[in-house]
Amino acid sequence: DLASTYDAGRAYELDRAHVFHSWSAQAEISPMVITRAEGSHVWDGAGQQYLDFSSQLVFTNLGHQHPRIVAAIQEQAGHLATVAPAFANGTRSEAARLIASHTPGDLDHVFFTNGGADANEHAVRMARLHTGRHKVLTTYRSYHGGTQLAVNMTGDPRRWASDHGSTGTVHFFGPFLYRSAFHATTEAEECQRALEHLEQVVALEGPSTVAAIVLEAIPGTAGIMVPPPGYLAGVREICDRHGIVLVADEVMSGFGRSGRWFAVEHASHGAGVVPDLLTFAKGVNSGYVPLGGVAISDAVHATFAHRSYPGGLTYSGHPLACAAAVATIRTMEDEDVVGRAERLGADVIGPGLAALAAKHDRIGEVRGTGAFWAIELVSDRATREPLAPYGGSSPEMGAIVKGCQERGLLPFVNFNRIHVVPPLTTSDEEVREGLAILDDALAATA
Ligand code: PLP
Repeated sequence: DLASTYDAGRAYELDRAHVFHSWSAQAEISPMVITRAEGSHVWDGAGQQYLDFSSQLVFTNLGHQHPRIVAAIQEQAGHLATVAPAFANGTRSEAARLIASHTPGDLDHVFFTNGGADANEHAVRMARLHTGRHKVLTTYRSYHGGTQLAVNMTGDPRRWASDHGSTGTVHFFGPFLYRSAFHATTEAEECQRALEHLEQVVALEGPSTVAAIVLEAIPGTAGIMVPPPGYLAGVREICDRHGIVLVADEVMSGFGRSGRWFAVEHASHGAGVVPDLLTFAKGVNSGYVPLGGVAISDAVHATFAHRSYPGGLTYSGHPLACAAAVATIRTMEDEDVVGRAERLGADVIGPGLAALAAKHDRIGEVRGTGAFWAIELVSDRATREPLAPYGGSSPEMGAIVKGCQERGLLPFVNFNRIHVVPPLTTSDEEVREGLAILDDALAATA
């Protein structure tokens, strides 16, 4: 019954007996039981409250139990809970219209998927059929999803176990000045050298074999590296010159996270960088019901005007997921949530993290925009030696995370980094509280 479902001890016991968890050694994990959530807070089985600085997996952009999203799902469930993708449905049509009204340029057609990985799989399939070419270029230090092609495209250690090298996926270095692959010392130098490098990779792979360049507009899990001005415009220009499809993965960076509706808008600054395909998920409906998708340009759409698109999903454009998207996007419009995210970054998170960096030697760099920030922790500021190795953890990182949790903060952690990625609706006061906890946890473990 419902009461026993909510008993934390039993939830934990049954989880350990029957639930197989993502990216984990099953016998070595002890997952926190979450029994309740509201806004930017969650409660564990012992009743302890946590401020969620992770937005779970960077998806609860409007926080937990937002009344408008919950009501929209309930209303849709009471009216028409599901319908197959071949039919037209008002909620799905409205979700597509709203998404298209915010995606840049002519990205006006939406193919709905269940999440981010399959959105990227389909974007690449579209690019391959559109160009008649096979190869896909993606960056190191990226994450594109856990399915076969998406994990091959991924440029972080989660790729290693499943990379059979058979997909024509080639990796290149994106710009990342703090750990420059090009020995650059300024953003301008990093930008120029990263573009020269990409140009060479394209030339040596053979431009006529490359279907797509796929990159996160701002790499997320890999470290929130905001590209230098001009980088995305440069990639757009390389793609145009060689007839390559540009795919922007905005699964994490999209729907307001970066302080713009989409992160590609930062780089364009009026220069008008519009990708040919843009993939999204997570923030599109705050993750209340699984939903992702590909926003498609007129040119790629035209390829499939009289040629059947060879792909589909049972739940493409599921009404419950689309109802959640409609409510999320309308709330974002009505409450200027994107502007709020921008101000949160400029006025609270950015200055707050700069103050922490001035205080704690183990902070090598802080960087980000909107509600999308990374703290790069190092054991030595001069050598920039990371506080945990690439792809691994360390007792030092573990202690900081434990210190945060004991003080009521749930941080997002990846290797030697802590990301500050709260819901976009988190109040200034709550963000300051979270930063104070981080400050304490760093001081207590120094
Ligand atoms: N792309 C990016 C940039 C992501 O951050 C993620 C998930 O974290 C994905 C794709 C995969 O999305 P999903 O887990 O919904 O398949």
